[in-house]
Amino acid sequence: MNYRIMIDAGHGGKDTGAVGKTGLKESDVVLNVAKLLHDELLKSPNYYPELTREDDSFQKLSQRVEREKEFQPAIFISLHCNASVSRKPFDTQIYYHKKSSKGKRLARSIFRFLTDIDSTKSKWSRVIENNVYYVLKNTTAPSILIELDFISNPDREGLLSCKLFQKECAKCIAKGIDYYFGKDINDKRILFKHFIR
Ligand SMILES: [Zn+2]
Repeated sequence: MNYRIMIDAGHGGKDTGAVGKTGLKESDVVLNVAKLLHDELLKSPNYYPELTREDDSFQKLSQRVEREKEFQPAIFISLHCNASVSRKPFDTQIYYHKKSSKGKRLARSIFRFLTDIDSTKSKWSRVIENNVYYVLKNTTAPSILIELDFISNPDREGLLSCKLFQKECAKCIAKGIDYYFGKDINDKRILFKHFIR
């Protein structure tokens, strides 16, 4: 079986998304992770991944949805980093559209692996129902929006800037995709303790 997968790196160009204290841009982090995820999925003959943007260019949300309609993927994954006024919050959140049971299952599949990157689970870590986000509402395929972590938390900003961490995120998302499509995967818990201060 060959599954088309659309990977959407949020923001880009004049729209940097959230910016961390040291100047790390959400748009750059998610583009890196999107490319790494693309490469990770290419290792499997089961997947045909495609990116909505391949460089630091601005794209309207409607253009992203247009790309999705053309490509007709089996799943659509939008990548973002979270931010809050307080520097305290950290951890992963994954959104799905409330009318999509497949989206919910996809969100749960990926959450299971992505939150195993480190051993410090927080109260902010969860899968969340949503009916507002444009890409969740307007895409045809089961869609999710992943907030990898909080760029507003200085520790997490450090992690998000790290190439090794970005790669680990991509690997865990790929494992969640395998799990969603029901492939026999090695369910080994990943601990990335050395990244956590
Ligand atoms: Zn964002």
